[in-house]
Amino acid sequence: MASEIEKVKVLIIGSGPAGYTAAIYASRAGLSPVLYTGGQPGGQLTITTDVENYPGYPNGIMGPEMMEDFRKQAERFGTQIRYGVVTKVDFSAQPHKVIVDDQVEIHADTVIISTGASAKWLGLESEERLNGRGVSACAVCDGFFFRGQDVAIVGAGDTACEEASYLANICSKVYMLVRREEMRASQIMQKRVMNNPKIEILWNTETEEILGENEVEAVRVYNNKIKESNEIKVSGFFVAIGHEPNTGIFKNIIDMDENGYIKTIPGSTRTNVEGVFACGDAQDHIYRQAVTAAGTGCMAALDAERYLAAKELV
Ligand code: NDP
Repeated sequence: MASEIEKVKVLIIGSGPAGYTAAIYASRAGLSPVLYTGGQPGGQLTITTDVENYPGYPNGIMGPEMMEDFRKQAERFGTQIRYGVVTKVDFSAQPHKVIVDDQVEIHADTVIISTGASAKWLGLESEERLNGRGVSACAVCDGFFFRGQDVAIVGAGDTACEEASYLANICSKVYMLVRREEMRASQIMQKRVMNNPKIEILWNTETEEILGENEVEAVRVYNNKIKESNEIKVSGFFVAIGHEPNTGIFKNIIDMDENGYIKTIPGSTRTNVEGVFACGDAQDHIYRQAVTAAGTGCMAALDAERYLAAKELV
């Protein structure tokens, strides 16, 4: 442990749209926030391509570029942005104790949780073994490696449709594995994949195993309607079946729902612990948009500011 423990007014955990927006507001309010980026600086938007639905960008913007803009704006007003992962928290007394990378201890009057969410996996042994060897949860990051090759993608939500369309631009053929007879994705996204001649949708199809010793060579799928298995030759296997919140370190400390999303007091970002606020995807399983994350990030900073004022800590 560091011999001298650093004391901060506002500690922000996470660097997606929620965390950076909280940082912009907190720094402009003179609260000198410190932000730890977590393991994926910039968050989920750094693994996406065009963002066309964030207001203010009429021609769209690339996700990584947008997050770079967020970071610069937070820094401009004095946010200290640090690379590091929060590994432990102790919110049992004021000030709250936060441990970074199992080494650095920080005492914070307020903590803003903006740790976001991460991709879900199928849970197959072969999926884990071949991860990074043809198995990926990010088409935008890894699609390039399968240029001109055949790939499969599992999932039937907007993410799967978006990624299937993206892969179809790069790969020669995309098999979309949909476990039911219909998709969950919005109509416009469904139409886009259905009308793409390079995408073949395999309905009622589950993934049994990803085949290959050192790299993906094929996938064994099971048709749950005709109850038959068969193999499809592919060199890439993409998983796009949703996300889960990155809230493990707050378990049994902060109130959560059964899926691990942090519960906030309606109309605010307050959690069950005084001085701890949550924003972005870590507490939102409904909207999960960059703009809603940014909105709740703003709320968290304002809630923290009011809390500090009420406790006469500023
Ligand atoms: P969703 O939770 O919406 O969809 C997950 C999909 O994965 C479902 O079709 C589900 O199937 C399938 N699935 C889950 N587990 C398995 C499994 N073990 N095997 C096979 N299939 C499985 O997640 P998304 O990431 O697609 O979207 C999350 C949110 O983000 C949504 O609200 C979405 O609208 C939004 N979004 C919006 C975009 C946009 O507007 N541009 C882009 C991307 C996301 P089943 O339906 O059978 O349960």
